Amino acid sequence: MKSSPFRALLAMLAHHKGALTLAVVLSLVGSGLGLAQPLVINRLISTVGQGPIAHLAWILVGLLVVSSVLGAFQSYLLTVTAETAVKATRHDLIGHLLRLPIAVYDRHRTGDLVTRLGSDTTIIRSAFTGGLVSAIGGLATMIGAIILMAMVDVFMLGLVLAVVTVTLIAVIGSSTLIQRYTRRAQEAVGDLGAGMDRALVAVRTIRASGAQDSVETGLRADADNAWLQGVRIARVAALIFPATGLAMQGSFLLVLGIGGARVAAGTITVADLVTFVLYLFMVSMPLGTIFGAITTIRQAMGAIERINQIMDEEPESVDGSPARPAHSVRFDDVSFSYSDDTPVLVDVSVDIPAGTKTAIVGPSGSGKSTMLALIERFYDPDSGRLFLGDQDMAGLTRASVRGIVGYVEQEAAVLAGTVRDNLLLATPDATDEQCWWALDQVNLRERMEEAEGLASVLRDRGRTLFRGQRQRLALARMLLMDSPILLLDEPTSAVDSQNEQLILDAIGASAADRTLVVVAHRLSTVTDADQIIVLDDGRVAGVGTHASLMESSELYRDLASRQLLA
Ligand code: ADP
Repeated sequence: MKSSPFRALLAMLAHHKGALTLAVVLSLVGSGLGLAQPLVINRLISTVGQGPIAHLAWILVGLLVVSSVLGAFQSYLLTVTAETAVKATRHDLIGHLLRLPIAVYDRHRTGDLVTRLGSDTTIIRSAFTGGLVSAIGGLATMIGAIILMAMVDVFMLGLVLAVVTVTLIAVIGSSTLIQRYTRRAQEAVGDLGAGMDRALVAVRTIRASGAQDSVETGLRADADNAWLQGVRIARVAALIFPATGLAMQGSFLLVLGIGGARVAAGTITVADLVTFVLYLFMVSMPLGTIFGAITTIRQAMGAIERINQIMDEEPESVDGSPARPAHSVRFDDVSFSYSDDTPVLVDVSVDIPAGTKTAIVGPSGSGKSTMLALIERFYDPDSGRLFLGDQDMAGLTRASVRGIVGYVEQEAAVLAGTVRDNLLLATPDATDEQCWWALDQVNLRERMEEAEGLASVLRDRGRTLFRGQRQRLALARMLLMDSPILLLDEPTSAVDSQNEQLILDAIGASAADRTLVVVAHRLSTVTDADQIIVLDDGRVAGVGTHASLMESSELYRDLASRQLLA
């Protein structure tokens, strides 16, 4: 369900109603004290030379000090409340961003999601600090003044209200533009974040291709777009202020003209007219603050719209019963597609028996990685069923499935942080001794000892390690998890033969007592597999051992002759 940004904002404000009420009270007291100051000054001036004035001076100083202190406290209170609201929104968003179905990340770009967390949430702050509270104080003054005006002359009040209402409708109408432009500006900032993110990930390629200039032009266009929306907001805001001024001047002229005529006709007294005009001043002064508040509220709503787009996405379901330990996997007539039009897996039925090593091979794009993604329950099949042991996966919680099925992805399997951080990702309680054992298994002990051991820092997705090492570190992490089933997406790029052997040994070590499913890109990985699944365009084109497939499958022979590097 799509939630309304206005209701979301109200809920957010309601959440802080204690602090906001206090701020409103402070603001009302502040304006009361402010209104009292001219009265004291009035008395002071008329008393000078006529009698003692020290006490009046002290009262004035007292008023000034107290109203400044109250003002400072109110501003502090509002800013802290605003920061707290931003923090709460960020907490919600962080939790949500980490738990969405994998398909949602396919739809959104990382940099854009990060922008929503950083920049959009910050804009919400303005809803609290942008004059909303003083606008409420001003509104109270306005209402009071309008009531008093009604007691003086209802007819002239009607005229004033007519002018003010027309302006108000125009202003509120144009403020929807501000919301729209803010959302567009933030979308442009999101595009910028996403573009920069992609550019930085591929910065080596961009530099090597000498493509800095064209990438820069693209990113500048996003920045320009954000600027353009900002200018549009400025344009609307710049129109709103003179419009309110014009309305007030119009009201004054009307009141003076018609009021003058009424005085001449004897309908009202001069004193009444003067009083009415004074109240009119009190109505006009808070108008600017109120319109300023409308502007910032609209901006906050523009940002909330973008945050809601993410919050409205359902998180990955956590339903189901916990999986019992199992060592085998079965695909039963499974079909799957990422989007409706292109089937990626079609009627796949295969058995992956306990304790065996199964290799999946096939041309690039034939659906090998997708099979692993389904076993890991990153996606659910469109039709057919997957079994973990004898349990239908659809009825199991994803978390329990992932506790049983370890997964080493092909790319970016290493996070920035220390080697220890990386190893403890899934098993935070593992000891240093266990970590070293795992590093031993994947032949990384020496490399890490040369560096700073488990505390060695891997920057930016472990670029300081080369690919084979990253893959081995990810394997070590999985070994610590001790999961009975292990999925491994082999890196495609050719590593040198020494490293290839190291990876094979590491896989061999990890395969002990485990069920291993490898998306294989190297012939050496598959020759000793217990079974090999040959995929062709989402369909199973053959299952067997290396020897039997060499006999029976033309596609396999073809792949093998090219060393399988699909
Ligand atoms: P393989 O591992 O055999 O190279 P994949 O399983 O990665 O093949 O991909 C199979 C097909 O699904 C390809 O056409 C690929 O473009 C598409 N595909 C893979 N991942 C996604 C995704 N996250 N969103 C949409 N399409 C995808």
